[in-house]
Amino acid sequence: MDLEDTLLMMPGPVPVAPRVLRAMSKPMINHRGAEFAAMYDDCCEILADVFQTKNDVLIISGSGTAAMEAAVGCTTGKDDVVITLENGKFGERFKKIASRYGKVNPLENEWGRSFDLAEVEKKLEEGAKSITLIHNETSVGIQNPAKEIGKLAKENDALFIMDGVTTIGGDAVKTDDWGIDIAVVGSQKCIAAPPGLSMVSVSERAFEVMDEMEKLPYYLDLKAYKKSGDKSQTPYTPAVPLFFGLQEALHIVKEEGMDARIKRHATCAEAVRAAAVAMGIEMFPQLNDEHSQYSNTVTAMKAPEGVSGNDIKKDMLARGIIIAGGQDHLSGKIFRIGSMGNVQPKDIMLTIQELEVVLKKRGIIPSIGAGTEAASEVLDTLL
Ligand SMILES: *Cc1c(COP(=O)(O)O)cnc(C)c1O
Repeated sequence: MDLEDTLLMMPGPVPVAPRVLRAMSKPMINHRGAEFAAMYDDCCEILADVFQTKNDVLIISGSGTAAMEAAVGCTTGKDDVVITLENGKFGERFKKIASRYGKVNPLENEWGRSFDLAEVEKKLEEGAKSITLIHNETSVGIQNPAKEIGKLAKENDALFIMDGVTTIGGDAVKTDDWGIDIAVVGSQKCIAAPPGLSMVSVSERAFEVMDEMEKLPYYLDLKAYKKSGDKSQTPYTPAVPLFFGLQEALHIVKEEGMDARIKRHATCAEAVRAAAVAMGIEMFPQLNDEHSQYSNTVTAMKAPEGVSGNDIKKDMLARGIIIAGGQDHLSGKIFRIGSMGNVQPKDIMLTIQELEVVLKKRGIIPSIGAGTEAASEVLDTLL
């Protein structure tokens, strides 16, 4: 299958608009010159709206994990305690990063199971310098209660570090209102730019914590990013072509407007869920209270009895649609459909139609149509 004929429906990377690809083929520029500075400022201005913050937003050449490491590495000394909330692969990643820098007090849930806020509060009362949360746990399709956990963090005087990699730019995130000291996002998810850049917002309180640190990482020193950012630059040579792409992708975000973008994401994910229900496919996340919800950007479903999630993924690939399976111990048990970035209703329709064909051929559903109809009813609310 020709690459240009495939439809990427993964939870990142996502398809990028042709105008973004064209923007990346511009000649290189001096990253200490006026042109770069103007591009940097333009990106930061749009990002402030995307993050809903008055804090500094810094841009790192490195994928989302670089931003996660910068957040934890700049605020965690060897005797500092970090509470890491885990209910999937990325929560586990924060735990692993934090353990390289300091002491970890983890709350380890079964993957896909929502957090009990009373348990989170109990952990915080044991005392910690910071707490990490994955807002949207991409590996299991669950949205965790960021606002509530931000409030608990503040009450217990802990820095709130939040990975918004698959929400910021596609879902409602209120960095300042929710008291997020450090929020991180990657370029290749909801923002729909190519992979390779990450963005971090940092509160004044977080910078004060960094001032007191004995040591900071070198390449990921957020104080250095702030110092250069004040001059509309980055401390080291940035990935200039990716900046061109990011700027264009952010213009698309601005033209659509965040409210419309959030609504489109939520509706597309809802359509996937409606189709799944109509086909008798079960959602994977276990939601145990009203504070957690199904993801607005990626849908994780249980593989139906008698078929592996990896087979569904393979069958879909043969039909030109790339979806995701499960990670680690969830491999084969689940399959995931991403609906983030510039995803349109017709992309969801095509995906669901092909999924129905795949499931019918495997004898999972008796006929084609129920999923497509359910999805279209939800998507019609966007027309
Ligand atoms: C994709 C993703 C990341 C970043 O992963 P990279 O491969 O480093 O870009 C981090 N957190 C979440 C929740 C993600 O979905």
